[in-house]
Amino acid sequence: MKQNVYIIGLGLIGASLAIAIKKEHPAIHLTGWDFSEETRKIAQEKHIVDEIPESFENGAQQADVILLAVPIKTSLNYLRQLADLPLKQGVLVTDAGSTKQEIMALAETLPFDFIGGHPMAGSHKSGVLAANGDLFENAYFIFTIPEDEVVAKRVTELQTLFKGTRSKYVLLSSVEHDQITGMLSHFPHIIASGLVNQADVFNQIHPRAKQLAAGGFRDITRIASSDPQMWTDILLSNRESLIALIATWQQQMSEVSEWLSESNRERIFQFFENAKDTRDKLPIHSNGAIPAFYDLFVDVPDKPGAIAEIMSILAEAAISVINVKILETREDIVGVLQITFKTQQDLQEGQSWIEKRTNYPCRLK
Ligand code: NAD
Repeated sequence: MKQNVYIIGLGLIGASLAIAIKKEHPAIHLTGWDFSEETRKIAQEKHIVDEIPESFENGAQQADVILLAVPIKTSLNYLRQLADLPLKQGVLVTDAGSTKQEIMALAETLPFDFIGGHPMAGSHKSGVLAANGDLFENAYFIFTIPEDEVVAKRVTELQTLFKGTRSKYVLLSSVEHDQITGMLSHFPHIIASGLVNQADVFNQIHPRAKQLAAGGFRDITRIASSDPQMWTDILLSNRESLIALIATWQQQMSEVSEWLSESNRERIFQFFENAKDTRDKLPIHSNGAIPAFYDLFVDVPDKPGAIAEIMSILAEAAISVINVKILETREDIVGVLQITFKTQQDLQEGQSWIEKRTNYPCRLK
């Protein structure tokens, strides 16, 4: 009999995983559920899933594998509901949530096998229309396995199921997962949003500042444009790690403030030097805890048609571009075209075409 995989939540992550599963395993019967009727309709019309059941419960009872791709708190509620349903013998339940301790702790108390999942790729877009089967290519896909060794071994079933994502699998304990993603993803989102909020108050006193924020400031706070609902859920689900990280940050900022009061040039220099050394050693374009942006910076001459020329070279080579921006107000680079590509491969090909057909210098940062 066909394996029946049931995806609850057909937004960016759920629908993208559905496409990746179908590509690798066309024989799998994909059933999908979402509380938005419009999303259910789109998912069916676009053949992202094979079937929309009559009700959430109906779909769950037919499933061999259940994947929760809804906001974190909603996943917890669904898990409790699943525990009250007559599910198939041997059903394997998993999720795609960005935090893992809370859900693993709940799942341990429930009467079905559960393995946590976190495909670490994303986009600023959300919803079913943003679905992309290549979203997870080369990204890390983390699994958090339970203590029960028999259930833990079932991770291979999920690794086979998600093969079409072409992601890199990593096994972590749920504690380690939340600490690492807390430091590298959740905490930076707090800082980025804090910077934007602080600048907003500042801009009311200095209206010209808003205009000047268009360049570098906009770039370093890019992740503050992420979905507020999702990030509220993530923060509340990883409170302990984040409270500890904020305390360390506050301590670090007090030190910087003290060095400034003392005009301590040496310590301030060391602060920046240490950060520069560390950052320069980070890999440029392998995917990490925050989705990578495949940016190419091209020095464009001040002549009519230069930007159109670059764009038509990329169009001729059938390379898609996510975003194009002219950087005018950056302090360090002037007259630069920033082109954001979808994948590392598109970036490399785009760069090579532009370099072959023009003499405009290109660089990656
Ligand atoms: P999304 O907003 O694109 O999709 C969520 C979907 O869930 C929507 O279609 C929504 O209609 C549906 N939904 C919400 N409440 C529901 C309910 N009660 N019943 C049924 N459907 C419901 O969000 P997303 O980016 O796909 O995020 C889904 C999960 O994936 C979240 O837990 C998030 O933490 C995790 N995740 C997100 C990213 C990212 O960057 N977007 C990356 C990795 C993991």
